[in-house]
Amino acid sequence: SLAPLPASVDAVFETVTARNPHEPEFQQAVHEVLQSIAPVLERHPGFASGGIVERLVEPERQIMFRVPWLDDAGTVRVNRGFRVQFSSVLGPYKGGLRFHPSVNLSIIKFLGFEQIFKNALTGQGIGGAKGGSDFDPHGRSDAEIMRFCQSFMNELYRHLGEHTDVPAGDIGVGGREIGYLFGQYRKITNRHESGMFTGKGVQWGGAEVRTEATGYGAVFFAEEMLAVHGASLEGTRVGVSGSGNVAIYAISKARQLGAVPVTASDSSGYVVDDAGIDVDLLRQIKEVERGRIAEYATRRPSARFIEGARPWEVAVDIAIPAATQNELDETDAAALIAGGVRAVSEGANMPCTPGAVAAFQRAGVLFGPGKAANAGGVATSALEMSQNASRQRWSFDDSEVKLRAIIADIHRAAFAAAEQYDRGGDYVAGANIAGFERVAHAMLAQGV
Ligand code: GLU
Repeated sequence: SLAPLPASVDAVFETVTARNPHEPEFQQAVHEVLQSIAPVLERHPGFASGGIVERLVEPERQIMFRVPWLDDAGTVRVNRGFRVQFSSVLGPYKGGLRFHPSVNLSIIKFLGFEQIFKNALTGQGIGGAKGGSDFDPHGRSDAEIMRFCQSFMNELYRHLGEHTDVPAGDIGVGGREIGYLFGQYRKITNRHESGMFTGKGVQWGGAEVRTEATGYGAVFFAEEMLAVHGASLEGTRVGVSGSGNVAIYAISKARQLGAVPVTASDSSGYVVDDAGIDVDLLRQIKEVERGRIAEYATRRPSARFIEGARPWEVAVDIAIPAATQNELDETDAAALIAGGVRAVSEGANMPCTPGAVAAFQRAGVLFGPGKAANAGGVATSALEMSQNASRQRWSFDDSEVKLRAIIADIHRAAFAAAEQYDRGGDYVAGANIAGFERVAHAMLAQGV
């Protein structure tokens, strides 16, 4: 279902599909980047002769490993662990770990591939990687989570290091998991190596605003896109999917900026709250009680729970998909467009299907792709690495100002790259081109 590609990149895509036949998400992510950068290859013959694209679509290293652990009943469980180290040309490998039953090589590779360009866009000197496991943390006790994280790190530690590879969280990996993972690395290596993991607790090397950064950044990116058209978030209705870290802080920042975030969701359905989502209640249910989103509606008179549906049927001005990949399809896009949506800012990685993206762009909806719109998380991870290296701690306000400036830079870079290639207003092309150019120049400089 992917559109035909220009001849200059078609052969590379053929190789990718032949070599990675059962990896639809990876193919989808590569396809989008190839489509965007075909005109760049025509303008820079050196990129083609340097084999830049051929090299970029093959990870520098892929690690898959067994993760055995004991559940509370004493039964041996075995999961699969992954770390795909995609590109270290701009800095140490950098990218999150995802613990979710859907995790497989295709998903980790799509995420790692996107991470190369996202990280390049931040301008922070970080390479691209991703990892995780098909482990399902849902319903597991703290002790089980700890044993799993320790076993995972027993293998992964040898591939990490502050100058080598620096993981962070992603779906299913938050503060609790990062604590157990970091703790195990410290015990194995006898090094309190702060810079080998980001998203740490603020008392032991973590950075202010890291927790909030991805969600905040997605809202800031929406603000930037609207500002080009003289508009703002003030008074807008915002539809958010998900109820994890990204969704919670997108909702929180949207409220602070005078918008009314009206939805949140999980895999069982969504809640709609016309009075505006109560962030404290949402956090209490999802982060403290680790409960389901349906619970929110039972404690909030202005809210309703809609089972088995996605929030995109609710009319909103701004949509922030912040759940997972391919969660918003062409039908959802049509519903949002009919409801008058003006901007979409991707809080998750690749949440919109190619058909949905095309529909938004055809309808003139401002569309901020995840590589740009959710880069605030990893950008703030790079700020955490800077603070770790210099043993400093920056205040919350200073850190938020830095994050805000980085998002403005990313928006500017994506906007300008799109203009340069006659794709004005196309942030998908702009983000892919701007990220790719930085990586490609560095690859040429450093040789084959
Ligand atoms: N998992 C986040 C992402 O998708 C953050 C990665 C990081 O901070 O290293 O970008």
